[in-house]
Amino acid sequence: MLKNQLSRRALLKGFGAGALGLAGGSLPMLTLAQEAQEAAAAEALAYYRFKLGAFDMAVISDATLGLPPTVFGSNAPEEEVAEFIDQYKLANAEGNITGIVQILVARTGDDTIIFDTGLGLGNPNGSRLIPTLAAMGIQPGDVTKVAISHLHGDHINGLTGPDNAPLFPNAAVYFPQPEYDFMQGTASDSPAAGMVQGAQAKLQYAIDSEQIMFYNDDDEIASGIRAMAAHGHTPGHMAFHLESEGQRLVNIVDAAVQSQVALRHPEWYVAFDSLPDVAVETRTALFTMASDEDVRLFGYHFPFPGLGYAVREGEGWAWVPSAF
Ligand SMILES: [Zn+2]
Repeated sequence: MLKNQLSRRALLKGFGAGALGLAGGSLPMLTLAQEAQEAAAAEALAYYRFKLGAFDMAVISDATLGLPPTVFGSNAPEEEVAEFIDQYKLANAEGNITGIVQILVARTGDDTIIFDTGLGLGNPNGSRLIPTLAAMGIQPGDVTKVAISHLHGDHINGLTGPDNAPLFPNAAVYFPQPEYDFMQGTASDSPAAGMVQGAQAKLQYAIDSEQIMFYNDDDEIASGIRAMAAHGHTPGHMAFHLESEGQRLVNIVDAAVQSQVALRHPEWYVAFDSLPDVAVETRTALFTMASDEDVRLFGYHFPFPGLGYAVREGEGWAWVPSAF
């Protein structure tokens, strides 16, 4: 099965071989159009490799979600939100706003770290993390650390298979202590109970095997990689600060969900934020820091590959994707 998913033609969809890191790919031009067509029908894999100082980095596209526009701006006038969505062409043919699910990978020399785990094998919306890692030459057993940002299923479900057996058997699983505290304090009749139980089931093997590492704000995940409290999306949601040889990147994860909406209107509520006012404060602080200090950002749901800059514009910021 893997072999099919990893066929070279599947890798080519929409991207040059260079951007995908395919070595020595001199493909006969004649076959490209045909292969591109086949790729459109196949399960396409996409990843983007880049350097952050001495770190070998990558972003893996795991899946694509369609978010109803009502997710955004419930605290703003309806017409204003509708006008904004129209102005920035955010709605797709179905009227939804596309949210990518993409996973940051860091190879530091000592560690191979993945930041969150995507939708998980068998999800009807796709889950390309494992086959894409394999296409990059990374087997699940090579992953030394999995850094989970928060308890939502689109971040934690890929930690285990459908039977809750670990998919990254050798990895330490970093999970935010404040998020775990929130989970433990959630009553079984609370609206969040189902979500909490789902996350608990995913984490259980790591707790039982003592592979779990609970972390707090500013804790080191690996050399050059630290947790940053970025609460609001969930009570214990975390971002990550990566630095190597003076180059910095902040993985803001879900502190912002949609790049245009979040940067231009950080004050607009997002339905997925469990503490919306805290989330507004958090993303405003992150964008302020990023623009003041010229730090590159990575957004888990931003347009692939999710890398770019917050540049001050008007009362908010513009999202300027990194060239690649
Ligand atoms: Zn998410």
